[in-house]
Amino acid sequence: MGNYNIKIEQVKESRISKVDLSAVAFGKEFSDHMFVMDYENGEWKNPSIVPFQNISVNPAFLVLHYGQAIFEGMKAHKAANGDALLFRPDQNFKRLNQSAKRLCIPQMDENLLLEGLKKLVELDINWIPNIPGASMYIRPFVFATDEFIGVRPSSNYKLIIFTCPVNSYYDKAVSVKIETKYARASEGGTGSAKAAGNYAASLYPTKLANEEGYDQLIWTDAKEHKYIEESGTMNLMVVIDDVIVTPPAGDTILGGITRKSIIQIAKDLGYKVEERLLEVQEVVNAHKAGKLSDMFGTGTAVTITHIAKFGLDGTNYELPPANERKISNHIKSVLEKIKRGEEKDLHNWVVTVPKK
Ligand SMILES: *Cc1c(COP(=O)(O)O)cnc(C)c1O
Repeated sequence: MGNYNIKIEQVKESRISKVDLSAVAFGKEFSDHMFVMDYENGEWKNPSIVPFQNISVNPAFLVLHYGQAIFEGMKAHKAANGDALLFRPDQNFKRLNQSAKRLCIPQMDENLLLEGLKKLVELDINWIPNIPGASMYIRPFVFATDEFIGVRPSSNYKLIIFTCPVNSYYDKAVSVKIETKYARASEGGTGSAKAAGNYAASLYPTKLANEEGYDQLIWTDAKEHKYIEESGTMNLMVVIDDVIVTPPAGDTILGGITRKSIIQIAKDLGYKVEERLLEVQEVVNAHKAGKLSDMFGTGTAVTITHIAKFGLDGTNYELPPANERKISNHIKSVLEKIKRGEEKDLHNWVVTVPKK
């Protein structure tokens, strides 16, 4: 690595002094630079880092009409010594290529992406707030740029990676509705890809749930609405009789990196984990029998989001207060410490970007 020819054009003057990093809202402030790369004439070319800026968009861009677009989400944290720490970035770039394959987007060199990201984070390292719980959110994405409105894979694409300083969320427990009419993903569909269109399709059912007073949805399988799949844009886990149960990632359930990491940490800590189909009815029965001690979503943004209550066909089921949920709080604290370099990184997940 390190032998890629990444052109760098730095900003003349950083915008950082104009931003109050202690008060940024999620996803609304962008660091000084972005990494860009174009696909033309059959190859990815011109990897470069440039000032964060607008791009010009042709109205016929294929992505605007048919949604040929994918994305990723990851984070960098600041270690006590000022270095930036990336958490399993190789996994994000691997998944970006898996999503690309499903959307007919050409494969990218994962090592080049990692190298570009490390340079980007090094340049904008001061944008990671020096505030407990804060981090830098990293958004890689790829979209089709053919100026052509026929339905076929584009011949031109743009990849961009930009970053946002983010503060710790006030991660309050959420209420969720078990969705039994709409579906997020179906067998053979695009549920295992981070395809932009999946999120567009989730907005309406989520809006309906919001109108009923729920924060989020729990998706069930498209065929029978019998099995639990995911929670919003997070994977879902429950604890029944002190065993962590989570449905298997696959065709309809996105393989979250947080999910995978939590399963590993749970096993490292001696907890029992089962990856298996999870029936809605099993969760309801466990609740009725007093055996459901926890239910939570897992994802990069908040690591673990506790579920305060779930609703099914108009009946609400309350869960214990979030601070009493020993297993998930234990795992969450270990995972967050690993990400910040405060806990032994047993599996070499953390990639360090030294401060200059
Ligand atoms: C991104 C995403 C997740 C979580 O993945 P992480 O890698 O843990 O952030 C889960 N489900 C869906 C649908 C997602 O888009």
